[in-house]
Amino acid sequence: MATIECGDCGNNVSDSANYCPHCGNKNFKSQHEERRKKVLEDLMDKDPIVKAQIERLREDEKVRVEKRKRILEQKQEAKKKKNMIIYNIILFITAFFIFYWLWSWLLK
Ligand SMILES: [Zn+2]
Repeated sequence: MATIECGDCGNNVSDSANYCPHCGNKNFKSQHEERRKKVLEDLMDKDPIVKAQIERLREDEKVRVEKRKRILEQKQEAKKKKNMIIYNIILFITAFFIFYWLWSWLLK
C-alpha cells in the first residue's frame, strides 16, 4: 500500500483513503497528481534528454494502446464474421425445411 503526502497538512496518507484523516482534505490525491505532473514538467524543461526520453515513452505507450485497440477490433470483426456465418447456416436450414414441408404438402 503506497502513501501520498497530503497537500494541505503534509502528512502521509494511504492512497486507498478517500480523504486525509489528519485534516479532512478530500483532494489530496488530485493534488498529488498535479504536483507529480508539475515536477515532471519542470524536469522536462530543465533537461532536454529527460524530455526526449519521456516523450519517447509516451509515444511508445500511444503505439501500444493503438496496437491493443487494433487487435481488439480485429477480434470483434472475426466474431462478427463468425456470427454472420452461423446466422446464414441457420437461415439456410430453416429455408430448406420450409421448402421441404411445402413440397411434401403439395405432393399430398
Ligand atoms: Zn491532510
